[in-house]
Amino acid sequence: MAIFFPLESFLPETGYDLLPFDFTRLDSGEYLLINLSGEFLRLEADIFEAFTRKVLTPNSNQYWNLNAKHFLRDSSNKGTSEELLASKYRTKKSFIEGFTKLHIFVTSIRCNQSCQYCQVSRHNESDGESSDMSLEVLHKSIDLMLKNPSRNVTMEFQGGESLLRFDLVKEGVLYTKRCNEAIGKHVNFVICTNLTLLSDDHLAFFKEHNVQISASLDGPAKLHNKNRPISGSDAYSTVVRNIRRSQEALGSDAVSALMTTSRESLKYPKEIVDEYLSLGLRSLFVRELNPYGYALKTKQIIGYSIDDFIEFYKKILPYIIQVNRNGSTFAESYITLILTKILTPWPVGFVDLQSPAGAGMGVVVYNYDGDVYASDESRMLAEMGDTSFRLGNVLDDSYEDIFFGETMQNIALVNCNEALAGCSDCVYHTYCGADPVRNYATQKDFYGYRPASDFCYKNLSIIKYAFKLISASNHDADLYRIIWSWITRGDVNQMDNKRYRN
Ligand code: SF4
Repeated sequence: MAIFFPLESFLPETGYDLLPFDFTRLDSGEYLLINLSGEFLRLEADIFEAFTRKVLTPNSNQYWNLNAKHFLRDSSNKGTSEELLASKYRTKKSFIEGFTKLHIFVTSIRCNQSCQYCQVSRHNESDGESSDMSLEVLHKSIDLMLKNPSRNVTMEFQGGESLLRFDLVKEGVLYTKRCNEAIGKHVNFVICTNLTLLSDDHLAFFKEHNVQISASLDGPAKLHNKNRPISGSDAYSTVVRNIRRSQEALGSDAVSALMTTSRESLKYPKEIVDEYLSLGLRSLFVRELNPYGYALKTKQIIGYSIDDFIEFYKKILPYIIQVNRNGSTFAESYITLILTKILTPWPVGFVDLQSPAGAGMGVVVYNYDGDVYASDESRMLAEMGDTSFRLGNVLDDSYEDIFFGETMQNIALVNCNEALAGCSDCVYHTYCGADPVRNYATQKDFYGYRPASDFCYKNLSIIKYAFKLISASNHDADLYRIIWSWITRGDVNQMDNKRYRN
């Protein structure tokens, strides 16, 4: 006598519905399916056809993978599948909660360096205080930041060179702390600096108030000094010495560095990584030139095509992987963001890769003159004479005028890639973002035209590359550990091969 019902009794009633997803045919002939929550599956062509014709039977693994990842709904999960999918979607989009989180303060537009690619059209160091933020503007800008509904905000000082007016940085931190006593937000403080003016007093203040340092380092001496010259001094030696001093004073996690890729940088992929490693830095953000400021004026001399950049990127990344295989934990930040989007349920909170776009909703810039911009790139455009993304002025406008005014509403019309032609049916849009400011800067159109967009081309290339790495990691345990050490910021030598495998 049978004790259990036969297996068929536990299978769902025949028939299933498809849940929303995008798909593309890969060069291998397989199909890649990605849904709203970022779950993905690769299917052989015959399975894909059976699935979409709704004749795939529940006897196969693929059926249950499709079920578990919310590509189909049947009698076994009716009602719950949509709820689970919605819950995962909410988690992916949770960066929207609380509204704008990154608040950038341009306390001075003056700078002591003359970088070839400067994106902000800096003013000379000797220019007067008309290029610096007044105390009134600083205080009113902080009041706006603290009025923001987010419980967690980052206050970032930028320039120009922010240490030229350390008194304003100091006042910014102290005023924020005083006003925040009654409000109770969690405020992270970050200073972006070229580190050439660093003093012991600065370090003592940063240590006391937990201010993190974001420095600029383009690579070895000959490259850094060419890209970021400083009159009468060796910029490279100064910045390297001061990165070390900062690490000693604040701890290595409190100091990070950014590089910008110039035409000259393309010659040195390995040397750039080695330079970062020699300073004990654990990651590198390979950033291309932005189409703003001096970078636009000097494009003929220091610029390159997007294909050149992708080629460079595909040289630097395998070298970084090899460095990890040799036992040093070291990540490239952009691909880490994309891998995190693909392989985890979490949002990454990176304003350049979000939908809705970061402009205004994820980031806001308080300029030295009181004008408020929707992003760093928006104020760079303004320095070039185009104030299309100016949200208002802290001296004249209210919080509501600035964050819900006409400019912000115009941005909101085009800030979701789910609703943009080209992106809405792009299989990768869940992992990508919208960038109306760059669309406008490069194509004179907030909406943008994807087939001619470098932003699109770059993201498409890097997302496809990320999928190749994920695929290769299925047969390469070291690569698997490396990918997860990047995502979890763990030590590559301590990663467990099986722990994260699904
Ligand atoms: S920008 Fe390009 S890669 Fe990104 S979602 Fe749109 S079409 Fe896809």
